[in-house]
Amino acid sequence: MIKYSNIKMPLEHTTDDIAAFISKKLKLEELKPTDIKIIRRSVDARHKDDIHFVYTVAFRCDNENSIIRKNAGNKSVSLYKEIPYSLPRKAQLSNRPVIIGFGPAGMFAALYLAQCGVRPIVLERGLDVDSRKEKVRLFWEKGILDTECNVQFGEGGAGTFSDGKLNTGVNDPLSRIVFEEFVRHGAPEEIMYDAKPHIGTDKLSVTVKNIRNDIISLGGEVIFGAKFTEYDTENGSIGSVTYEKDGTEHTIETDNVILAIGHSARDVFYMLKNRNVTMQAKNFSVGVRIEHRQSDLDRSMYGDMSRHPALPPADYKLSVHDETGRGIYTFCMCPGGVVTASSSEENTIVTNGMSYYARNGENANSAVLVGITPDDFDKDDIMAGVELQRKIEKAAYKAAGGNYKAPVALVGDFLSKRTSEKFGNVAPSYPIGTTFVLPDEYLPDFVCDALRFALPQFAKKISCFGSTDAVMTGPETRSSSPVRIVRDENLSSVSVKGLYPCGEGAGYAGGIVTAAMDGLRCAIAVLGRDFAKR
Ligand SMILES: Cc1cc2nc3c(=O)[nH]c(=O)nc-3n(C[C@H](O)[C@H](O)[C@H](O)COP(=O)(O)OP(=O)(O)OC[C@H]3O[C@@H](n4cnc5c(N)ncnc54)[C@H](O)[C@@H]3O)c2cc1C
Repeated sequence: MIKYSNIKMPLEHTTDDIAAFISKKLKLEELKPTDIKIIRRSVDARHKDDIHFVYTVAFRCDNENSIIRKNAGNKSVSLYKEIPYSLPRKAQLSNRPVIIGFGPAGMFAALYLAQCGVRPIVLERGLDVDSRKEKVRLFWEKGILDTECNVQFGEGGAGTFSDGKLNTGVNDPLSRIVFEEFVRHGAPEEIMYDAKPHIGTDKLSVTVKNIRNDIISLGGEVIFGAKFTEYDTENGSIGSVTYEKDGTEHTIETDNVILAIGHSARDVFYMLKNRNVTMQAKNFSVGVRIEHRQSDLDRSMYGDMSRHPALPPADYKLSVHDETGRGIYTFCMCPGGVVTASSSEENTIVTNGMSYYARNGENANSAVLVGITPDDFDKDDIMAGVELQRKIEKAAYKAAGGNYKAPVALVGDFLSKRTSEKFGNVAPSYPIGTTFVLPDEYLPDFVCDALRFALPQFAKKISCFGSTDAVMTGPETRSSSPVRIVRDENLSSVSVKGLYPCGEGAGYAGGIVTAAMDGLRCAIAVLGRDFAKR
């Protein structure tokens, strides 16, 4: 096949237009490109009067080698070799491996190990995705929180109620496995080529269930409502894990445990600390969710073309450093999405964002976060970051008057340090209700100062950030883990051999794809360790 990159197409076009473009550029005359396969598609909206799509495609054609020779000086043209996707080879382990947590990290570790034929056992404290949706509905509609099954805990992990943005930020062959497996299990095909792929919470929940069923069909086991509580060691290596289900304790003997518990399993962090497992405090961020009307954002980004049906709802990514060097940035932007109530502990407020595949909600939201380093608190206390998160979440609950209502402020009022009194043209989407409260009542002063510095800077880049009506709902505290569970070069905990700290909670990932990739990495390490032991 031949690869052709940098093909500029108007907003309205068909695959035939792409074929015609290639024929003309390569002077193919009667030869026609066939089997056109999109490799990458992006929107170039840098100039509002010339918004267009940019494609890289592969195609078949007679005389491919001679076409390549004739176009040797054309950097857009090269030979393309399709590498078929294949499942991993079968392997053997002395004992069934145990995976704790069924978020992206645990799910991909389990899928890989199941495909290798080693029949993993997954322990997940939350429930299956359908029961979990019901728990989340109860919380969002009635304020009844289940601390074991919520937006953070349950099948699919923290990413299930998300936008399902699949950012990688890294060029690693493992990312292909993640994308191929998502599509094989029901995610939309275009995630393979879109420059900004996303699945949406509606499609993600189906995909997650399909992955679980596949793991089970391959001989694996997924136990929901199973909370990992303890472990035992033999000669410094893992020997067994204990979990609680329906009030009863169970123990599984195993010599390989992938610990993919996410950033909200604070009880596990404390248990590991008490058992002297080596951990470190690490950088994390806190801030608020900001909401604009999606139509205002589209106008800011696309100008007069903002209503064109071919254009996706606009998104953005912004960052700035204040005069002290502290980073402030937008994160997890959800076009056409809603702000979620994401608490996992009683009497705390935690926000995040999600959207459906169609991304057709009224508002656009993203986190505006301020970077925090261990230097901002007592770095000798590994849990200082966890406790800062918790303190903010509790203060927000109290300040907003309880019942899981979230504190909100309009940007204009926040900048003038006055409590808002009524909404303007943006209605908050947080589902349980809101109370007007300045973020100063629940966020540290240095965080509010940094936000006040950053918002006017962002308005210089995207005009709707200058809207005084934009709504800030807080706090956003769980964008990443404040601790790292230290691993050795074989990905095993430095304190307990055979215990593989994995994914976001362990401090080795930041998002769905990187967590899934870390799951794959740990699964491969488990197979390697067992092989080395034999
Ligand atoms: C609302 C929301 C929206 C998000 N949107 C995006 C997005 O669009 N794109 C993106 O890339 N990222 C997004 N994220 C972040 C992303 O979800 C996480 O980075 C990712 O899920 C981390 O994967 P993980 O497997 O490491 O941990 P998690 O997904 O947190 O999974 C950990 C799992 O372990 C389980 N667990 C914890 N303790 C125990 C225990 N003791 N016993 C048994 N099980 C346990 C938990 O119940 C959980 O299911 C979002 C997060 C949230 C909350």
